[in-house]
Amino acid sequence: MNRRIMLLSTVLFIILSISVSAKSKPKNLIFIIGDGMGIAQIHTGMIKNGNTLNIEQFKHIGFSKTYSYSHFTTDSGAGGTALATGVKTRNGMIGMSPDSVAVKSVLHLAEDKKLSTGLVTACAVTHATPASFVAHQINRNMYEEIAADFLKTDIDVFIGGGRNNFEKRLDNRNLSDELRTKGYQVAHTEKDVAAVKSGKLAGLLYPDHTPAMPERGNFLPDMSMKAIELLDDNKKGFFLMIEGSQIDWAGHDNNADNIALEVIDLDITIGRVLDYARRDGNTLVIVTADHETGGLTIPDGNIKEKRFNAYFSTKNHSGVMVPVFAFGPGAEEFSGFLENTDFKQKIVNLLKL
Ligand SMILES: [Zn+2]
Repeated sequence: MNRRIMLLSTVLFIILSISVSAKSKPKNLIFIIGDGMGIAQIHTGMIKNGNTLNIEQFKHIGFSKTYSYSHFTTDSGAGGTALATGVKTRNGMIGMSPDSVAVKSVLHLAEDKKLSTGLVTACAVTHATPASFVAHQINRNMYEEIAADFLKTDIDVFIGGGRNNFEKRLDNRNLSDELRTKGYQVAHTEKDVAAVKSGKLAGLLYPDHTPAMPERGNFLPDMSMKAIELLDDNKKGFFLMIEGSQIDWAGHDNNADNIALEVIDLDITIGRVLDYARRDGNTLVIVTADHETGGLTIPDGNIKEKRFNAYFSTKNHSGVMVPVFAFGPGAEEFSGFLENTDFKQKIVNLLKL
């Protein structure tokens, strides 16, 4: 009798541990970054949106410490590099350690494991945050060098602005032609992007940055879902970075109404990504920021009238912690207090990179 009970409990234990470990490892990971998006920024969007946002669906919530190697208050280069590579570096650097050594990002590591990879951004793809996942340059303003770094990767899908850095260059190279030679479909309009059904895509939809909201329309949610549709073909899984870039720019302008518009746009994207993740069941979604911008506070407002009074303490970034939200297999790893350099190793462990 005892032997049978022993055997049964051993078998049950094995099944349980297999299912737990299998369940807690995602196949896909979608890393969403709101540039300059602190808690107050999120709240402006929530108030303007009628006191509700899709981001409220997240149950795993934490905080990220954003200081860089060189400064209490980071820029997007060092902030993006920390999130992408797990290394604190000097403000202004891209994908490099403080002593100028190139560091692989989670996107590079996912490629090495034959996962599909991509990024979608509401600015030029050569700008600091997206560049941090792809390039290695000592200065974030080296846009043409950063664009050339895209060709040194095997990234499957990238969509945003920055076409001039690929096609109107001082060295007269035409990187879009070189991308075509490498098998990429190069798209210049959202209509072109929509026509792509599979394979590699370079979506360079604007000469410089994408417009701000409301002019940008459904660019970010639509292009993000298109990227997922293309990356989802890979049964090994995928890594996708999505950036809501212009929350930061509205913060630098100390324009809270525009911050709210940009936050609502990112939140619509988050809602559609969560719907996909729920359907898929094997996708981890992480939302955070590289830093807060503007030192924003909201001392007064009216929820019913969807209005608020906003005050800014600076036209630059601030050093306060930023929020972290996670959904899906492994989400519990992202609650609590994190360094902005902790994301990389957690992602490496969860995706088994
Ligand atoms: Zn900024």
